[in-house]
Amino acid sequence: MADYLGSVPERLARNVYETDEEQSHIEVNQEIARATGTGKLIVQVCPAHVYAEEPDGTISVEYAACLECGACRAVAAPGALTWHNPRGGMGIAFREG
Ligand code: SF4
Repeated sequence: MADYLGSVPERLARNVYETDEEQSHIEVNQEIARATGTGKLIVQVCPAHVYAEEPDGTISVEYAACLECGACRAVAAPGALTWHNPRGGMGIAFREG
């Protein structure tokens, strides 16, 4: 049941994204991600479905949808994932109301 602010999808739809078209703020080291199981973990943990496992086993990244929650960073093995904040003014702006 939605509260007075609306359902989760409705609330997420209020957010504004300023996508950095030139530079991703996320990079996956495919070799380390595969060897450590990080690839499967980040696909499972990301609430925005930024990551997907391709048929060849590589992990694709749709960084424009990132909510900047940090969950992928928490589960990634060292060296498997490079994540930094989007460049100034880029990324998500949360709108609560
Ligand atoms: Fe997904 Fe959150 Fe990682 Fe962004 S920071 S890619 S939303 S898990």
